[in-house]
Amino acid sequence: MTVATASPVVHARAPGKINVFLKVGALLEDGYHDVAIAYQAVSLYEDVRASHADDFSVVTTGTVDISRVPSDGSNIAIKAARLLARMTGYRGGVHLEIDKHVPVTGGMGGGSADAAATLLACDALWGTQVPREQMLDLAAQLGADVPFALTGGTAIGTGRGDQLSPALAKGQYQWVLALADFGLSTPAVYSELDTHRDRHAQDIFPATVAPTVDSNVLQALRAGDPHMLAETLYNDLQAPALHLQPSLAAVLELGEQNGALAGIVSGSGPTVAFLAADLDSALELQIALSAARLTVVRATGPVHGARLVTS
Ligand code: ATP
Repeated sequence: MTVATASPVVHARAPGKINVFLKVGALLEDGYHDVAIAYQAVSLYEDVRASHADDFSVVTTGTVDISRVPSDGSNIAIKAARLLARMTGYRGGVHLEIDKHVPVTGGMGGGSADAAATLLACDALWGTQVPREQMLDLAAQLGADVPFALTGGTAIGTGRGDQLSPALAKGQYQWVLALADFGLSTPAVYSELDTHRDRHAQDIFPATVAPTVDSNVLQALRAGDPHMLAETLYNDLQAPALHLQPSLAAVLELGEQNGALAGIVSGSGPTVAFLAADLDSALELQIALSAARLTVVRATGPVHGARLVTS
């Protein structure tokens, strides 16, 4: 067996995610919202390879458009490595190579997966042996979705989405993802939601009430039944995302006309995730959407969270 810490290059892999349920609470005084999310990790992975260096650097490659990925210290992978070094007193640096397969600014947590994989890779490379609980704390400091990229599977996120509890879940789900050739900024989508809620006072979520995940979602996940889950897919950010990018409505419609059980904007979008009844329907849907000149990938979920890869 290869011992990862002995290797000059440590390879870690972390998954992207789909929010099968996302409820947004009131805008709080600090400018953030409490949310209630049901996360599912899916089989689109980010690969991070870490090697010893005196300072911190990153290069990115991938099968998705990487033009919006920064190569300086604003890359969340560099932030993750620096945070780990600071917290553990490690005095060296790291060179990171990210191989991306999760669409950038796509609402699928690709950057969060990079951060989670980087924490694991650097911890193994540097031999810092940070305990799991502390790793989850560091992850939460980096971003609300980073703890989930570490744990993977199916989980409920509350607070900012970073307070995780595992959800009982059965079965494998078949997803077909329509990727957009544009990004949607998460803050812009939240701000569109706030504007809408301001305009329509009846939609204002009371600040005293924390949002919760609908019990029907939990029941569907426990049953492992895609038909039941399709009925309960829900995303408060879908309407504002559609408002900012009206072309997504036609994508949703096209998927539903071609056999999807249901479609949903993933997180803050613009990726649209379609749930299929089984592998055959997923393949048919993939062909139909590709024929309409959409960029489409298939994924299954749930999958495990960030892990070291030994070869
Ligand atoms: P989420 O679903 O968690 O809201 P997302 O999937 O929509 O996130 P990401 O691709 O994770 O979006 O992040 C996109 C933003 O983060 C872009 O503004 C990009 O410039 C910046 N960024 C920083 N580091 C990375 C990284 N390693 N990969 C992708 N984007 C990064």
